[in-house]
Amino acid sequence: MKALIVIDYTNDFVAEDGRLTCGERGQSIDKRLTELTKLFIEQDHFIAFAIDAHKEKDPHHPEAKLFPSHNVIGTKGRALYGSLGQYIDDLTYEGIDKYHWMDKTRYSAFAGTDLELKLRERNIDEIHLVGVCTDICILHTAVDAYNKGFTITVHSDAVESFNPEGHSWALQHFSQTLGANVVENWKE
Ligand code: ZN
Repeated sequence: MKALIVIDYTNDFVAEDGRLTCGERGQSIDKRLTELTKLFIEQDHFIAFAIDAHKEKDPHHPEAKLFPSHNVIGTKGRALYGSLGQYIDDLTYEGIDKYHWMDKTRYSAFAGTDLELKLRERNIDEIHLVGVCTDICILHTAVDAYNKGFTITVHSDAVESFNPEGHSWALQHFSQTLGANVVENWKE
């Protein structure tokens, strides 16, 4: 059984005026990311949108010292970006039932969320990672998934970063150190 984990593909991380944007690099994967999401929804696989949820200038949050405020709860910065956002907005009730929205407050989609419980109760052992940023939230999620014994597939045509060197480094780390399948133009 497999699952798709869509990480942080929101306006703040991708749109031109996003607060912590990957810019054009992030926008370039919109089409592929939407295709993969459709594919997983149509085939009834588990899908989680693991999305940063922050407070404005939270003094207790470690990211406050590192990054400008982003993905603030209640702002449009947290909405899914582009054609992916449009596709999900247009889903009927039946479609909405097929994905799970998970607020996360750390880089990893496993940190402080019920992602692992949702996967284990469905006997899912293979997770597919897409979204941003390759070398931050995708990386930390992949490391946790590795430690928890999941099989990992990273779609190199559906992950991106504001940092090209970090992106390339993370892709080789996924395959060479975490044993992940790094794929493009993947079809089931
Ligand atoms: Zn964050």
